[in-house]
Amino acid sequence: MNLRLHYKNVKTGLRKGNLSDTFVVAKYKLSPYRACGHGCAYCDGRAEKYYVEGDFDKDIVVRKNLPEVLKPELQKIREKGFISIGSGVSDGYQPAEKTEGVMGQVARLLSHHSHPVVLLTKSALAARDREYWQKVNRNSRFVLFVSLTFLDDGLGDIFEPGASTATERLEVLQSFKEMGCAVGVLAMPVLPFITDTDKNLSDLFGKLKEIGVDCVIPGGLTLRPGIQKETFFRVLNKKFGNLTADYAELYKENRLSGSPLSAYRKELEQRFFRSITKYKLNSLVPHYVYKDHLHTYDALHVLMQHMRILYEQRGINTTPLKVSYTRYMEWLQREKQKYNRRRSLHYAELEMLLEEMARNGELARILDNKKLSAFVYNVIVEKQYFDYISLQLYDSGY
Ligand code: SF4
Repeated sequence: MNLRLHYKNVKTGLRKGNLSDTFVVAKYKLSPYRACGHGCAYCDGRAEKYYVEGDFDKDIVVRKNLPEVLKPELQKIREKGFISIGSGVSDGYQPAEKTEGVMGQVARLLSHHSHPVVLLTKSALAARDREYWQKVNRNSRFVLFVSLTFLDDGLGDIFEPGASTATERLEVLQSFKEMGCAVGVLAMPVLPFITDTDKNLSDLFGKLKEIGVDCVIPGGLTLRPGIQKETFFRVLNKKFGNLTADYAELYKENRLSGSPLSAYRKELEQRFFRSITKYKLNSLVPHYVYKDHLHTYDALHVLMQHMRILYEQRGINTTPLKVSYTRYMEWLQREKQKYNRRRSLHYAELEMLLEEMARNGELARILDNKKLSAFVYNVIVEKQYFDYISLQLYDSGY
């Protein structure tokens, strides 16, 4: 693949993540590159809304000075939380990394700190830096997320031409798991009529269960009108021309979000849930992975959000939980404003305040829900972990 590399100096390295908004519970994010030589046919990063200039697969922006600007920023982080690397518009271990090495330098830098890191990739090149990631894991926590939706290497050649094969990705997952890191799979986007079958999901999830992945987060295909949709249809027409009409029907609404017809979406969610349940897999980043690497108040925020999803999947009414969650978030945002404004305040004090409130009943007043308050007391004061499969509390994580 002929890449055209464009070198760019950045002023900042770390950007704020949004805990409410990420699959991977990231508080911060960074990216050594923009655009991506993996060239996945369905990549959402191609969509106009991201303003990525040039040919998405070939014109790669290299943030050459990223390690330099990142160094002082890492020392100034005030609130603990995962730094995520890789997103919908780039992959830190894409082909350009073989010659540019920015990701490797970032990995080395992070290994000298104690910030937890979550890496998302489709490349086995991540294994090159395993000693740095192992060190991050010893200092705090390193989580490897690999995107994978099928076991058939042939499908990868069609839809993910620049990425590592499914077999290589499974090997990387296995080796990081053996190193003691948490590993997860973003099983998205599952492609309608190609990889969304019960058989494919069952084969994939069964294999992932065998490896012992900590979670599998499944998701469907979105095709935003414009370049993303056109690119995908070009590949589809060439290799799966018999499915073009079915896809056209499924995505005929041309929603800005790229969502397919809602009946399909709902049915797919049920199919995901059936397969996840069959193999007893976590479909969200488990509590034991993030609990001790976020401040207690943020961990509680994530936990309540996850509980809502988990209970809804099982058809349980979550209205009381949502009410308590809103009340809690209003309180948290008010408190955080004080800490954000005054650098002399330490977030550890907010953590202590929350624990004190859990003990003296003040938090129960905010949540206004007796059952939930007793549960939260066990999480915050008794330091228990919530198991996302059995929906029970345990004294220790895994
Ligand atoms: S690896 Fe991710 S960022 Fe890169 S092309 Fe594929 S989907 Fe897009």
